Amino acid sequence: MTLEGRLIVVSNRLPVEVKHRGGGPRLSRSAGGLATALDSIWRFTHGSWVGWAGSADSERANELLAKAARGRPYGFKAVPLSRDEISKFYSGFANEIIWPLFHDMPSRCNFDPEYWEVYQRVNRRFAQAAVEVTNGKDVIWAHDYHLMLMGRYLREAGKMTTAGFFLHIPFPAPDIFEKLPWRKTILKSLLQYDMLGFQTDRDRWNFVSCLERIVPEAESLREDPCMSVVLEGRRTRVGTFPISIAFEEFANHAASRDVEVLSNQFRHELSNKFLVLGVDRLDYTKGIPERLRAFRILLRRYPELRHRVTLLQVVVPSREEIPNYKDLRREVELLVSQINGEFTEGGWVPIHYMHRNLTRKQLLTYYRAADIALITSLKDGMNLVAKEFCAAQVDEMGVVIISEFAGASAELQHGAIVVNPNDLAGIAEAIHRACVMPVEEKRARMRLLRDIVRTYSVQNWAEAFLNAALSTRPDVQPKEAPTEHEAIPLTTPPGAREQKIA
Ligand code: UDP
Repeated sequence: MTLEGRLIVVSNRLPVEVKHRGGGPRLSRSAGGLATALDSIWRFTHGSWVGWAGSADSERANELLAKAARGRPYGFKAVPLSRDEISKFYSGFANEIIWPLFHDMPSRCNFDPEYWEVYQRVNRRFAQAAVEVTNGKDVIWAHDYHLMLMGRYLREAGKMTTAGFFLHIPFPAPDIFEKLPWRKTILKSLLQYDMLGFQTDRDRWNFVSCLERIVPEAESLREDPCMSVVLEGRRTRVGTFPISIAFEEFANHAASRDVEVLSNQFRHELSNKFLVLGVDRLDYTKGIPERLRAFRILLRRYPELRHRVTLLQVVVPSREEIPNYKDLRREVELLVSQINGEFTEGGWVPIHYMHRNLTRKQLLTYYRAADIALITSLKDGMNLVAKEFCAAQVDEMGVVIISEFAGASAELQHGAIVVNPNDLAGIAEAIHRACVMPVEEKRARMRLLRDIVRTYSVQNWAEAFLNAALSTRPDVQPKEAPTEHEAIPLTTPPGAREQKIA
């Protein structure tokens, strides 16, 4: 199968950011794993990346973006957004409504109607920007909950090119989703895309169940392995594509001499205590207070583990402008100090807490040094930390304890210990079980986990989605229906490497 045209990626943020500091605009890498996830796909194709670039609205800023695109297989198309739009579209609609709702926390939603107005306006602007850089043979790939309406605006602009959408976060069940005042418009807009991708089967089925309840006129056709939904004569394919990591890259870096030395040194500094590791953005969906409380139960129930087990909790600063997040930080820090106050004794502090961004090397050092990765998300689209931890276990010894509500548990459930994050005593028991687990069992479990993550890498994810999207074209008839987990290499378009900027 050939991608004849180019790939137009659309996401809330560009992979580079223009910041205005002192002497004028400056360019930096922007946060977010999507750029890394798509790295592999740009080896096979070229095109444009459409998104917000920070404050890129001046001529100088656009020059910087054009310069940054040199040598890349894709150019940048900045979508200008005002401060007010960012506040209402990004912090407001996306992060105060969709984020909590899609993570099953409707009571945290702020259904401000103004947010909706701005969300529509901004989605229209993203669609316009995508239209400006797209021609008929290109494939548009929109990412995430910020852009659920864009499909509709692409069609309104008369753009008939193939357009796919991947949702990186969970999709909620109908009883939750229907609380959204704009539920029908959002579902019908999503059906304006040709291809919809979800992280897990659970998310995909939730989406289809919402359609059945809220858009009953849409007809679902259960085809294998993707399914289709037909509304007003237009067909949308719907599939499951669990996102992953660049396994070999993580594994090789984790196996490097300097990571090994740093990891041994860190373990030595902790007097070789049994190390439990949590790494999360500071977010209420991650179940960080629950994890800390479960750890307290462990220390109360199993006094023999005191002095022998240490929890390293890394919290990466996130969305600090939203009030909920400030409260969460206070709650986490209070719990850490209470637990340390209750149990610390000479030579042993039960919880080591870091609130900062780590470098890749530091992260890999902690992954390698840890005996257990503890993931207790109350709800999570995927949780890449779980997969990265597996890749970093080059000695095949670590144990993964993972919430059944993290998307990654669908793939990792047979090698990991699966917990309900609301069952604090159950988490404590799971940690205890991991602490006393025989070495052979740990190895067997970790081998299985590493095989799973290695087999379906982020490159497979991107290729599988794009191939499924391409198969929706009337002019492209794959010999066999593409399977969701199957990667069919895209052919390299001529001059892909030479392409500078669209
Ligand atoms: N991570 C990071 N900086 C850090 C620690 C972790 O960028 O200091 C990365 C980590 O490697 C992982 C991502 O943040 O790729 C977290 O992804 P995950 O899917 O677990 O959760 P998300 O933050 O996307 O909800």
